[in-house]
Amino acid sequence: MRVVLHSKTATRCSTCSYLNPLPGLRHQAACVNCAEPIDVAGQIRDRFEGGLSYWFGGYVDAFAESLLYGDGEHQVEDMSEGGGSPLTLRKVERFACHCGAALDTPAHAAKELRCTSCEDLTPIRWPDAQTREWDPRITFIVGDAGDRGVALKQKVEGTVVKCGNCGSPLAQQGRQRALVCSHCQTENFLSDQIWTKLFPRPEQHVFYLVYDLGEEDDTYAEAFAFLSATTHYDFKKAQQKVIRAKAHEMRPRILAAKVKRALTNDTDDSDLAEDVAREIIARDDLDKATMARIEKRMTHAVRSKIVNAGMSASFLRRWLRSMDEDVRAIAAHVAKGDALEKCATDKSVEVRLAVAGRKDAPPEMIAALRKDPNERVRDKARENPAYKPGFFEKLFE
Ligand SMILES: [Zn+2]
Ligand SMILES: [Zn+2]
Ligand SMILES: [Zn+2]
Repeated sequence: MRVVLHSKTATRCSTCSYLNPLPGLRHQAACVNCAEPIDVAGQIRDRFEGGLSYWFGGYVDAFAESLLYGDGEHQVEDMSEGGGSPLTLRKVERFACHCGAALDTPAHAAKELRCTSCEDLTPIRWPDAQTREWDPRITFIVGDAGDRGVALKQKVEGTVVKCGNCGSPLAQQGRQRALVCSHCQTENFLSDQIWTKLFPRPEQHVFYLVYDLGEEDDTYAEAFAFLSATTHYDFKKAQQKVIRAKAHEMRPRILAAKVKRALTNDTDDSDLAEDVAREIIARDDLDKATMARIEKRMTHAVRSKIVNAGMSASFLRRWLRSMDEDVRAIAAHVAKGDALEKCATDKSVEVRLAVAGRKDAPPEMIAALRKDPNERVRDKARENPAYKPGFFEKLFE
């Protein structure tokens, strides 16, 4: 399965307010009008929160949203209202040359694609450190040359670009960015600044984000895990319905993706959902640091609901040794053997109370709790129907 997002983005210079089109994903830019540097990534980082842990997701994950639609074109939620660095995204069926002709899938690592119709070259960008930071799921980008080659540092007056080596004017052919000087044969790669000055309209800088994935891919389930885990106020009712229906079909895979995300994301500190927490406490293969991090995200309400016999020994041990008496009390509901003995004599009333209410506690343990110094514990043990006093005890009731 392939998802193609038709993209256009620009960044507004904070010095002179000029709106600079960007020819691809850029962390930094230099203003075409006043040459001041622009911190594109910084602007976006400051403005958006929520969404995925990487920036390109924006508030709503456009890639994940695209998975909701079948064939055809769909406008997706994007950052076109984004102030500083507006971004427009549209899910399309295929990527194309600027002349409109469809382009083939590039061979792996190919730097450009030649159009069979107009013969122009369209650059291809393969994932690099910067694109991964924007969105690690991108397979390749069509129409974004990145910062390859040596950038020309000169300022352009009018439309004449001079060779960086000998100074002769370069002849622009079509929309080629790498121009060979006819005088000294040096190849000149036009910098973003020169390139966007020569082609100042945003629609001249369309690029396509291409995602290739199998339906069985983790990426697919992960995207849905994100879509269904968060309430997105930008989605309309009809879209939310589609999300719910799709999410229902692939419930087990989405749950697995949510669990994976909870275990690997060490910056998220939001409360864990009950189903995710239940899956995690059944596991016995997690290291101490991960368990500690996960535990911080479990509320007592969730713990009470998920505590059960299927809990792994390592999680149960942690709960029983917790400094928090409420956590020990929850664990006391499923503790067995020596651990249960310990709970029956715990210094916390809440913990002993939990044992006193257990129908499967040994009769001698209940008998002892019937004489507990705390009245609530005594009452609870006396009400416990599991306690069947023998004849001798009955005499002294
Ligand atoms: Zn400027
Ligand atoms: Zn073409
Ligand atoms: Zn030259």
